[in-house]
Amino acid sequence: MERYKDFIDDLKEFVENPRIRFNEPMKNHTSFKIGGCADILVLPQNSEQVLSIIKLCRARNIPYFIMGNGSNLLVRDKGMRAVVIKTFNCLKHLEVSADYIECESGVLLSKLANAAWEHGLTGLEFAAGIPGTLGGAVVMNAGAYGGEIKDVIIETRYIDEDGICRTAKGEQHQFGYRTSMFQGTNKFVLSAKFQLDCGNKDEIKEKMGYLNQCRKDKQPLELPSAGSVFRRPEGYFAGKLIQDSGLRGYRIGGAEVSQKHCGFIVNSENATAQDVLDLIKHIQQTVKEKFGVELQTEIKAVGEE
Ligand SMILES: Cc1cc2nc3c(=O)[nH]c(=O)nc-3n(C[C@H](O)[C@H](O)[C@H](O)COP(=O)(O)OP(=O)(O)OC[C@H]3O[C@@H](n4cnc5c(N)ncnc54)[C@H](O)[C@@H]3O)c2cc1C
Repeated sequence: MERYKDFIDDLKEFVENPRIRFNEPMKNHTSFKIGGCADILVLPQNSEQVLSIIKLCRARNIPYFIMGNGSNLLVRDKGMRAVVIKTFNCLKHLEVSADYIECESGVLLSKLANAAWEHGLTGLEFAAGIPGTLGGAVVMNAGAYGGEIKDVIIETRYIDEDGICRTAKGEQHQFGYRTSMFQGTNKFVLSAKFQLDCGNKDEIKEKMGYLNQCRKDKQPLELPSAGSVFRRPEGYFAGKLIQDSGLRGYRIGGAEVSQKHCGFIVNSENATAQDVLDLIKHIQQTVKEKFGVELQTEIKAVGEE
């Protein structure tokens, strides 16, 4: 903690004590329920605080990591030598006007989709069951059942690596399959604006219910996971390749290829991050040997190696 001493003194000037956590177990902040401790975790109250935290990190040369709801993260067992800035339940302003919704990055997609439904707006039904925040969804261009964030978003407010607030519009987002201009950078997504169509409330509700039921039927939602582990290889489905490789239920330590959906790895019994990483490697090798396909991960492994 010595290296953070001055940083912490400065941070306490503008962030209340309970919103700063030290040696915080990341397993409490990820859907995998896995992960060593982050040196510091901060829960900012608004975008002004985020900007001040980022500026302070830059001034003190302290690395920072941005997270939403941790539903696409595998935090390594040694934890994170960084300041983790968590948006979920922190940046949660949401505003609906006519056929627009503007919302901050810490709002859950399910909440955003429900707000759209309440106002009779269609276009976000696909997002109702994705367990991430808006920020994580923009970074990942999250999508399901034929819909993607890129189809409905019009602009994003973000803080760039120099601590300057900027706006990205349309094509500037560089959206692709599970990617955007924000991936692999330290740009902080603050909020985004969506344009939706007017629709029938009952039909919107019915579609969201149907898609959520499809998830319950096909995905192992009863066990901790980070969703689909691998990106979809062109011309194949990762889950089918894994299943056809005979790996359904294959275990390393407490990590297991889901019995219900082979594209998911579940934490079935106190898995470590290393168990998951070893299992990922085993799956990649097996699928490559059997089918010649190289599976790339969709989940983000972070933390000290
Ligand atoms: C059961 C289950 C089902 C899932 N189903 C789907 C699905 O159908 N479709 C799909 O696309 N995904 C799915 N996922 C994966 C996950 O929910 C999405 O990737 C989601 O968009 C991640 O959001 P998050 O807030 O949890 O991001 P995190 O996991 O916290 O972070 C993901 C990445 O985004 C970055 N990030 C997060 N917030 C910000 C921000 N404000 N500014 C800058 N960077 C940020 C992080 O640094 C990290 O690189 C599923 C996951 C689970 C557990």
